[in-house]
Amino acid sequence: MCVTLAAVAPRRPDTLCGAMEIMGIRIPTVIHDTDSVRCAGCLEPIAGRPMRVSVLDIVATEAPPSWASRSPINPGPREFHSDEAHVRAWMRRSGYLFCRRSAVREIMRPVRLPTDPVAWGLCDGMHRDAHEFVPA
Ligand SMILES: [Zn+2]
Ligand SMILES: [Zn+2]
Repeated sequence: MCVTLAAVAPRRPDTLCGAMEIMGIRIPTVIHDTDSVRCAGCLEPIAGRPMRVSVLDIVATEAPPSWASRSPINPGPREFHSDEAHVRAWMRRSGYLFCRRSAVREIMRPVRLPTDPVAWGLCDGMHRDAHEFVPA
């Protein structure tokens, strides 16, 4: 169904009220205010459209995961400012390494590193040669 945001109230910092129109019917309601979305990298509010980044789930799909175990990676998606430095700031804080042969994309693939304790690297999976993990 087509939902258009129409006649949105002028942006005032003290209100979240607006109106939307569905099939010609005006519905005054509380609409989601994107100003309340915060960047997972710098924790500041995001004005406008956030960049969403997900980490692919590492749980094998052949068997349902046990209730007792949980995936060590929260796949997100997380929302960031459109500058990839903010995504890398989140990676750094979360202990991920970053594959410098890749780029920050909407979907990042986790790569388990042969380290003790276990560490994870994130790569976009778009290159064919070996990963080169560096601190994000
Ligand atoms: Zn940010
Ligand atoms: Zn890589």
